[in-house]
Amino acid sequence: MGSTAVTGPSGVVKFTNCLLVKGADLVQEDLWISSVTGKILNGQEILYGHLTAPDDIIDLGGRILSPGLIDVQLNGAYGFDFSVIPENGSIAYGKGVQQVNRNLVRGGVTSYLPTLTSQRPEVYHQALPYLGPSGSPRDPTLGSESLGAHCEGPFLSPTKNGIHNATVLQVPQDGIASLASCYGSSNLTQATPIKLVTIAPELPGALSTIQSLASLGIVASIGHSEATYEEAKLGIKAGATSITHLFNAMKPLHHRNPGIFGLLGTASSSISKPYFGIIADGIHIHPTSIKIAYNAHPEGLILVTDAMRLAGMPDGVYDWTNGSRIVKDGALLTLEENGKIAGSSIELIDCVTNFMNWTGASVPEALKAVTETPARMLGLEDVKGSLQEGRDADLVVLDVLEGAVGDDKRVVVDQVWKFGVKVYESEPCRLGH
Ligand SMILES: [Zn+2]
Repeated sequence: MGSTAVTGPSGVVKFTNCLLVKGADLVQEDLWISSVTGKILNGQEILYGHLTAPDDIIDLGGRILSPGLIDVQLNGAYGFDFSVIPENGSIAYGKGVQQVNRNLVRGGVTSYLPTLTSQRPEVYHQALPYLGPSGSPRDPTLGSESLGAHCEGPFLSPTKNGIHNATVLQVPQDGIASLASCYGSSNLTQATPIKLVTIAPELPGALSTIQSLASLGIVASIGHSEATYEEAKLGIKAGATSITHLFNAMKPLHHRNPGIFGLLGTASSSISKPYFGIIADGIHIHPTSIKIAYNAHPEGLILVTDAMRLAGMPDGVYDWTNGSRIVKDGALLTLEENGKIAGSSIELIDCVTNFMNWTGASVPEALKAVTETPARMLGLEDVKGSLQEGRDADLVVLDVLEGAVGDDKRVVVDQVWKFGVKVYESEPCRLGH
């Protein structure tokens, strides 16, 4: 791979004949970026100021130009599992992470949170130093960028463990001290590699832990939890701002106790409604449930893959951790021993397609759920997730194809740009239409 864009001395690139994703609209407008700073420029300033013409003009033939996609829950991919330290140690682990980054960017995911399922403390101590924010070299050849790790556990409900190994789950009874001894105290400092922690708010010590996470700038997300509506609300009041894979691994909506889902219906005057992850793979959640959640709180919906290392592998039975085995049948992954859903193998852009077709959301509305909304959830809206001046020039060129069924549409990735440099282009057979 590597850079294929031709740029001259100023490194200014202009995209033209394209539809920019701006909020809920597609706007016919040019976009100017710098391949030197890797940021989006102010086009008006260039046009009317003293700056010269662009070095490169990219005619996109009417296609869509979107901010790069952000996946806040990715357990692994391309045969690599973030939660498994290879037998040959942490150097091999670091190389595996780099390999995932280079592959991942080709699908349009320009930044993400590498996600650890519940593990013994040794795994966190070895893995977390490799999973922190990786964008500071601003090197497009490194591929997708970690925005920090997502620790999904181990402070989760033992009865909502899903595929997490119940024997490694912990109770945060000593608050942040429990987290420090689990993740390693050096991983909970100001320059923490951790960006998001999924935690069950009903556990002893969880509320004070959530407060401490918030003060460290780590997003606390409610998940794998037996929380009642009232307990979930206390979690939000303590500082949690998100829900991990809404509907999955939590109590279902009950009309007398709406559970965690009820947070989406709470009056905004009483709490700020949380962001919430949705796995739109057609297996984890019924499409109508997704539509109900979206209607309840459209500004909070974030599409996630929850994909694991078997994504992209052929169907079959694979060894998993602790002697378990996983059956892969298309996108469906289940534990052999009990048939429980064991993560997904979907790509984020296909979640966008599903979401559009199931909810009737427009293309920019669906893209918002993988760009602007996750950037806001992570507090990175000034850096990622939109095409405004000063944001990183992480971009995807998208085409919308007619789907197989009726009015269905399919969104496909034609080009990916990272820090202002083109790092991927799809096969030319589908271009030039
Ligand atoms: Zn989970």
